[in-house]
Amino acid sequence: MTNLTGWTVEALHGDYAQALREDELLYDSQTDHQRLRVFHNARFGRVLTLDGVVQVTEGDNFIYHEMLTHVPLFAHGAARRVLIVGGGDGGMAREALRHPLDEVVMVEIDAGVVEFSKTYLPGISDGAFDDPRLNLVIADGADFMRDTDGGFDVIIVDSTDPVGPGEVLFTDHFYGHAKRALAPGGILVTQNGVPFMQGDELAGTMRAFRTLFADATCYLATVPTYTGGPMAFGWGSDGDARRTDPATVAARVTASGLSFGYYTAEVHHAAFALPGYVARLVAEG
Ligand code: SAM
Repeated sequence: MTNLTGWTVEALHGDYAQALREDELLYDSQTDHQRLRVFHNARFGRVLTLDGVVQVTEGDNFIYHEMLTHVPLFAHGAARRVLIVGGGDGGMAREALRHPLDEVVMVEIDAGVVEFSKTYLPGISDGAFDDPRLNLVIADGADFMRDTDGGFDVIIVDSTDPVGPGEVLFTDHFYGHAKRALAPGGILVTQNGVPFMQGDELAGTMRAFRTLFADATCYLATVPTYTGGPMAFGWGSDGDARRTDPATVAARVTASGLSFGYYTAEVHHAAFALPGYVARLVAEG
């Protein structure tokens, strides 16, 4: 048993915790919205926590960001406009902007997260904030979604968990407005936590998606710092992009000339294969 002095203990689930050793504390402050900390960990590099919950690490963020961008974008195949809700660290914009898009609108509630990430986690955004195609809006994503004219080919909800400011991004209301904001054939993807630990989170989103979308499901990826099994990403669309055949997805990936740390055309399709406990949450949760 290790003495946990000098460790960050994330007890998101009440009866279970993960601990990361803080090799160096780099930042600790309270914004108007949340408590923001950054420390260095030997395995994961710089780690950002909001209200004590790990949001992003230098070491494993590529998995999360690649899977929430490249799966919908390669499935769609012709996206021009993308909306990111949340995403203050800039990692989602970084990955989305690798595609030949006209515009990425990013709506983040907390300017503090953006400013701070530019300074303390520059490798996460990797220049995305300077890309002229990025339109950064500081606002509540739920308000933005209610008022937008829409026309987005892909909407990515890169939110915190459904507590505090992130809670509104898990409501039926918000999802209904998001559906309206999609262009024909558009795709909505959402971060839905780790189903083994937070089944209710995925079940709630899937309940809403089933009533809203012709194609409502989720897909999976294993992100080491989101512990407890694979994490789930909600998928809602009235188009058939999910059924784009594997050869077409593979051809699009090759034509893009991009290479990735986690995402491949094979992983793209495999990620939609759901274990029984997850499939039940999707179908009946
Ligand atoms: N990857 C993390 C995870 O899985 O827990 C989450 C990423 S973090 C970039 C989520 C961002 O959502 C934070 O910057 C937070 O400020 C933002 N956020 C939370 N609630 C929001 C809201 N209502 N509207 C817009 N952004 C919000």
